[in-house]
Formats: sequence, structure tokens, C-alpha cells
Amino acid sequence: MATQWFGVMGNPVEHSVSPAMVNAAFSVLKLDAVYLAFRVLPEAVTDAVRGLSALGASGVNVTIPHKQAVLPLVSQRSAEVDLAGAANTLLFHQDGTIDAHNTDIAGWWQSISPALPAGWTTAAVIGAGGAARAVLTALALFAPHCQVAVVARDQTKAAQLQRQFADRLSVTVHDWDDRGAAIAASDLAVNATSLGMWPKVDGCAVADGRCFHTGQVVQDLVYVPLETRWLQLAREQGARCVDGLGMLVGQGVAAVKLWTGLDAPADVMRAAAETALRDR
Ligand code: NAP
Repeated sequence: MATQWFGVMGNPVEHSVSPAMVNAAFSVLKLDAVYLAFRVLPEAVTDAVRGLSALGASGVNVTIPHKQAVLPLVSQRSAEVDLAGAANTLLFHQDGTIDAHNTDIAGWWQSISPALPAGWTTAAVIGAGGAARAVLTALALFAPHCQVAVVARDQTKAAQLQRQFADRLSVTVHDWDDRGAAIAASDLAVNATSLGMWPKVDGCAVADGRCFHTGQVVQDLVYVPLETRWLQLAREQGARCVDGLGMLVGQGVAAVKLWTGLDAPADVMRAAAETALRDR
């Protein structure tokens, strides 16, 4: 059988650690398969997806800014894709059909659920972009009892999320200026903005750590760097901190399962991603 090939399409994608992470999994699983990074500009998304399919790719991950743009190009969408309105994993079939999945959702839940204390009820999600959408979808599926405060500088986007999840989740929308109070009142606080991401590592969604406290779980979805200012401030206040790499690994494990049917080694994938981050 010919070598199977996979990849990640996005822009920018040059610095993605996914090739190192997924190729490490393929190696442990002894698969004759390779995973590459494809830089795809927004105007080339349709050509790229059709080209990957025509050339015999087995699957791709889809990242910023294409997670919504690929939806009209696929033959089938999973229920999670419909709920989130975004896909991060495509599976190409030999007959030319394409399935869309969203493994960010289960990946995020796997990364955060072991850290959550029994009886937690409130979450603050900072940001209203694609990552926030994956978090809200996971909460709707796995923790529909919880109360979610969405804090965003763009109130229109936050209100859109509130409407989209109204049937499944209790969501309140908060002004950017009120984020300290919303975070302080939450058992779980997730930074789903790109603030603090390399190279602007001094960026942070809060000016100081006064909103964080012991007993709280605080996560940053940014994973470059692994220890962001957001996490540093939360750690100093005694909060339990979770970095963004667990979500990346979780979505990767789920994508490999969809593509190959095999259980990928999360520990090996995390170690490969950490090495790739250090070597950047
Ligand atoms: P996105 O769709 O572009 O959304 C970014 C969000 O951040 C938007 O709500 C945006 O607000 C907000 N934002 C950006 N700069 C801001 C600022 N200066 N002040 C306030 N808000 C600001 O991107 P995304 O896909 O959601 O990704 C967000 C972050 O999560 C990125 O760093 C990405 O790398 C990370 N991520 C990590 C994983 C993982 O596996 N760990 C998965 C997905 C994403 P506006 O809409 O007003 O611009």
C-alpha cells in the first residue's frame, strides 16, 4: 500500500508543531504515513481542498483562518461541526467524498475536565472567536448545567454566540471592561483570545491577577509560549493552571483516531510538541 499522507492547512502554518506531534504518533503506531504543513491563503481554500482530495490525501487538519470556509466544500458534517459551525479535521474518501469533523471540542474537554473540581458550575470564556466557539460547544455537550460568562471586546460576536447556544447553555454576555468581575465569579476561566501569543508575549487579557483565586481552574488556549502571562498571574494567586498544549494534543489524538482507527499515544505526542516548541 502506498504511503498515506496527511497535513494541516492554514495561514500562517510555518511554525505549527502539529507535524512533529502527529509524525511522532505515526512512528509509534508503525504507520507508513506522513504529515505535512500546507500554507493555504484564503482565496485558495477551494482549490486546496479539491486538490488534496484529487491527489489522494487521506486527511487534513484545518486551522486559522479556514475552519469555517471549508464547510461548503465537504460532503458530510458531524453533529459537532453543525453545532460549532466550524471544522478542524477533514477525512478524504477514495470516492472523492469528504467528511468534516471537529476534534477541537473533545480535545478541549479532555484537556480541562480532569482539572475541574466536583460541583463546579460557572465558567468565564474570554474571547468570541473560533476557539471560544469550540469551548462553548464542548460545554453544551459535556457540561450543559454550567453558567457561562462570555467576555469579548466585540459585543456583536459575543451576542451571536449567546444566541447560537441559547437552546443548550446558559450564556451571559459581558463588556470587556467588566472582565475582572466575570472572571472572579467563575470556577473556570479560559483565555480564548490570542492575547499573550508569541511574539507579543507581554499581552494578557487582564492587567493584574486580582481576579484569580485559590480553588479556581484557569486555562490559556494559547500554547506558544506554554507559560503565558495569564497563567503566571493565575498561578501567583493560587489557581490551578492548565496550559493550551493539552487541547492541541487532545484534538490530534482524536484526529488520528478518525483517520486511522488507532489510539495515538498522547504522552509521545505531547513530548514531541514540547520539543518542537523548544526548538522553534
Ligand atoms: P480567532 O477566531 O481569531 O479569535 C480570536 C479572539 O481573540 C477574538 O475574540 C478576538 O477579538 C480576540 N482578541 C484578539 N486580540 C484581542 C485584543 N487585543 N483584545 C481583546 N480581544 C482580542 O482565533 P481563535 O481560533 O479563536 O484562536 C484564539 C487563540 O486560541 C489563538 O492564540 C490560538 O492559537 C489558540 N488556539 C489554541 C488551540 C489549542 O489547541 N490549544 C486551538 C485553537 C486555538 P475580535 O473578534 O474583536 O478581534
